[in-house]
Amino acid sequence: MPISYTVDKSLMVLNSICGTGPSHWHETCPIANGERQSPIDIQHKSAKYDASLKSLSFSYDPSAVKSIVNNGHSFNVEFDDSGDKCEKLLKGGPLEGTYKLIQFHIHWGSCEGQGSEHTVDGVKYDAELHLVHWNTKYGSFGEAVKHPDGLAVVGVFLKVGNACPAIQKVADALDTIKHKGKRAAFTNFDPTSLLPASRDFWTYLGSLTTPPLLECVIWIVLKEPVTISKEQMDKLRCLCFNDENEPQCAMVDNWRPCQPLKGREVRASFQ
Ligand SMILES: [Zn+2]
Repeated sequence: MPISYTVDKSLMVLNSICGTGPSHWHETCPIANGERQSPIDIQHKSAKYDASLKSLSFSYDPSAVKSIVNNGHSFNVEFDDSGDKCEKLLKGGPLEGTYKLIQFHIHWGSCEGQGSEHTVDGVKYDAELHLVHWNTKYGSFGEAVKHPDGLAVVGVFLKVGNACPAIQKVADALDTIKHKGKRAAFTNFDPTSLLPASRDFWTYLGSLTTPPLLECVIWIVLKEPVTISKEQMDKLRCLCFNDENEPQCAMVDNWRPCQPLKGREVRASFQ
């Protein structure tokens, strides 16, 4: 089927899932106008320092990573989240209990100066990494998304600068999953290598940023960005939104704009 090019062409795959672009998502996903939608603009001054926030504890198992897939709106690096072993876990911060890593992916722009979903004092970063975890008390990812504390997503801002050695392994794998639906083996990778040195964070209650936009996410956005080289960023832009049988459409600007705060509190782990 020919693809129609619209203003929101970069989100055409999402469009086919739910409306015709982020500004239309509410037509088929009413929760798009809900009370705790993401992303948001984080305002340094209005974020409240909360001394009761614990430090974050990441304990990931590098052998749990299994594949990388082009799902038509980003790439996902997927983890084996079965079993009861105390691995691939996130604890602490604003979280009660333990959360298990299921996948990570990135949102990016068509050019520098845009690409992140969250913004800080109105400023966009060049890209944003999301590490997606589910609350182990619910037993599965599918069950967890039905609950307001079901997921914990760690957001890491990326800005163009020095190359990120950890992202190079991802960048090297992208040639094999250029088109939607492609999947390749991806093994032995430690996601903590993607994190910045500082674990200072902001936290607030929000949602998935792609349909079905479920309001099930405790967001943890790290303050310190990590750098990624221009060449690595360009590798991300070589992915395609479409499958092999459709006209080529570069995967760029796969980010949702900021949503209203609607009275929510943003807490900071630092002063
Ligand atoms: Zn995301």
